[in-house]
Formats: sequence, structure tokens, C-alpha cells
Amino acid sequence: MRQTTDGRTVTIAAIAAVAVLLALGLLVALHPRGRVSCPTGSAAVVFDPGHGGEDPGAINEAYGLVEKELTLEIARRAADLLRQEGYLVALTRNDDRTIAANSPRGEVANVCGAGVYVSVHLNAFGDPDPNYVLTLWGIEEKDRAFAATMQAALATELRPGTDLGDSGLDQLENGGLLTARMPAVLVEPVFLTNPAEAARLGNPDGRRREQIARAIAAGVAKWFRASEATS
Ligand SMILES: [Zn+2]
Repeated sequence: MRQTTDGRTVTIAAIAAVAVLLALGLLVALHPRGRVSCPTGSAAVVFDPGHGGEDPGAINEAYGLVEKELTLEIARRAADLLRQEGYLVALTRNDDRTIAANSPRGEVANVCGAGVYVSVHLNAFGDPDPNYVLTLWGIEEKDRAFAATMQAALATELRPGTDLGDSGLDQLENGGLLTARMPAVLVEPVFLTNPAEAARLGNPDGRRREQIARAIAAGVAKWFRASEATS
């Protein structure tokens, strides 16, 4: 485009640009939730496969492991297991997309009217030695009891026959956990930087990934059963 030095043309262009910006601002104001919606209309369980798109999460190049791919596979497997038990399950992402912040992930659980929100991750560290089960909660009153149930389910399912440790629970100021209004946790079942665990995770038989999914599904089902028993 040819550059203009005509003052009037520049002024008209500036007014047009301001008008477009105002119109866009009005649209955003009218739709404060932006694009956040519940993919299944409603859901009892919302799984959040960590990372995605431009954010790969942790990577173990030697074993060809990428956290964003593993979290999606594990969340899909856990969702399938719970659907077989009759639960309605939604995922915050079901493809390799970028979600810029964590808060909208928790907001998906809110608009789904979910009973629980589980963000699925895999742990990583520079040193290859650490490997333990970790469950993180955001707000103690709503999350901590659910976190204890999830941690116990993960440890029971994943520790036998391995050196996997159990570090217990910890708190994390994560936008997803803080935004979700229901019991919410972020699970880090194993370390993808630990060589023994990386070999299990990368095994084409998929057994470890399925085992992690089963542990997550078992924890969620146990939580719902306990909630029904006490209500
Ligand atoms: Zn992660």
C-alpha cells in the first residue's frame, strides 16, 4: 500500500480504526466468558489435559516423550473408562490446541456444572532420580479432601512393582484450580524425566498410560461414591 501524507486521509483512517476497536471491545464486554463453553453441554467430570499447542510442557527427548501428548492420551483413556461407568465426561481440550491461560480451563468445569475438575500433568525434574506421586490442590476447603482421595488412588494403582514414591499433597496457586468452583486437583502421577518411568510411559504397549488413566478414573469414581454415601 502506498504511504499517504495527506492529513485528512490519516484522520479518517484513525477514526475508522478507533470505531473498529470500540466495536470489538463492546463484543468482548457482551460475552465476558469469551469462547469458554462446555463441549458436552454438561458434565459430571471435567478432565484438563495439561499444556497443548505451542506449550509442550515437559519433554524427555531420549525417550521421545512430550507431556502435552501424554496428558491428552491419559485424559482420553480416563474419560472412556468413566463413560463406561455411566459418567458424563468433558475435556478442556481434545486436540493439540494452545490454551493461553489456566483460568479458562477451570471455567470450562464451571459452565459444564461439573462435580469435579482434574487437571492431568506429568512431573519433570532436571535430575533423573526423583519419581513420586503428587496431587496438588488450590483452595483447601473445596479441594483438599478430593486431593487425598486422588492421591490414594494413584499410589495404590501405580506404586506396586516400582520404586515410585509417595510425596503426599501440596498446594498450588493454579488458575484452573482457583477458578473451578467444585473440588479440583492437579495430578502429577509420575516423572517423565525418571528413566525407569520414561521407559514404562514410552512402551508402545501403552500399559503404563492405561494404568495412570485407570488410577485417575478410580479416584474420581471413589470420590463420587463417597459423596453419595454421605449426602
Ligand atoms: Zn505439566
